[in-house]
Amino acid sequence: MTAARIAAPSATPGAGTDAAAWQHRHVLDLDDFTRAEIETVLDLADRMREVLDRRIARVPALRGYTVMNLFYEASTRTRASFELAGKVLGADVISLSASTASVQKGESLIDTVRTLRAIGADVIVMRHAASGAPYLAARHTDAAIVNAGDGAHAHPTQALLDLYTIRSHFGSLAGKRVVLIGDIAHSRVARSDMWGLAAMGAEVVVCGPPTLLPRGLRAADRPTHAAPALPAVTVETDIDRAIAGAHVVIALRLQSERQEGGLLPSLHEYAALYQVTAARLARAHPDHLLMHPGPKNEGIEIAGDVATGAHSIIEEQVTNGVAVRMALLYLLSGRTESPGGGPGSAAGSAVGGEARA
Ligand code: ASP
Ligand code: ASP
Repeated sequence: MTAARIAAPSATPGAGTDAAAWQHRHVLDLDDFTRAEIETVLDLADRMREVLDRRIARVPALRGYTVMNLFYEASTRTRASFELAGKVLGADVISLSASTASVQKGESLIDTVRTLRAIGADVIVMRHAASGAPYLAARHTDAAIVNAGDGAHAHPTQALLDLYTIRSHFGSLAGKRVVLIGDIAHSRVARSDMWGLAAMGAEVVVCGPPTLLPRGLRAADRPTHAAPALPAVTVETDIDRAIAGAHVVIALRLQSERQEGGLLPSLHEYAALYQVTAARLARAHPDHLLMHPGPKNEGIEIAGDVATGAHSIIEEQVTNGVAVRMALLYLLSGRTESPGGGPGSAAGSAVGGEARA
């Protein structure tokens, strides 16, 4: 078959991307991703979007490859997104949740991961309430591990889909003012977004009440040994100042399940001071984008009318999530044939063709 190599993705001019930039065996967070690696994922996600937009969105690129979803925490959209991503590429996809996994019988995480590998998992997509759990798993298996959310630590695939979505509107993230608002302290999305946005050259602003901002967020407050713990961001407790001139506003869910309590006087007061509303967004850039990783608490961190308003691209984030996860599964598989043929080339398509074993 006439397959374009992914080594030559349709690169963003000047970005110098190519699949050789991809060095990852696992996707645990974005703190170790270079800009070129992120561009590689986003460029491939563009091609995956083309596959998704086909009338029959199925290609055999990952035939014979097995994706196992191991979710110890509730999830609807992330899990469904990975399932679909694997299936569109022709992989075998098996999903386990904590209630069915033998973790309930006391099997350790390491045993579970090893067992899944022995059964045939090539990649294990894992969500766990404990920060760091996917790192532990990655040390004990030669399956690829994808972190689908670990505690309040990281959610790299959400961050990549956020970057992809912003790039698809603005062409580039460099110099864009991106404001994350809400429960920063408990948000794994915020942490991964900060790394990814900083790597792409965006201006990152984080905003929330002081009790929901992690300690040490301001670089100046950190001991020198902790300097690389988070990228440089602007910290703002005044939402109007934070939003002023923003190209992108990302509202974050108030993570009541991760709060120890006592951090907020009341939800009512939180909403009054930090809800993303139309009046507040009037200070943003006229072409701003409004995003939210979901699930949303409308009426708390985000007003219902703006969540469905003209600037909201929340649903687009969900669709793009499938394309980004397809790209990641594909890169982790190490396969090099074009997953869906060159852009616009039906003849060069892998549809009905052979995927490399
Ligand atoms: N926490 C939400 C869910 O699991 C969104 C996500 O998965 O990222 O449905
Ligand atoms: N869905 C995202 C997560 O799983 C965000 C959230 O739950 O608020 O972290």
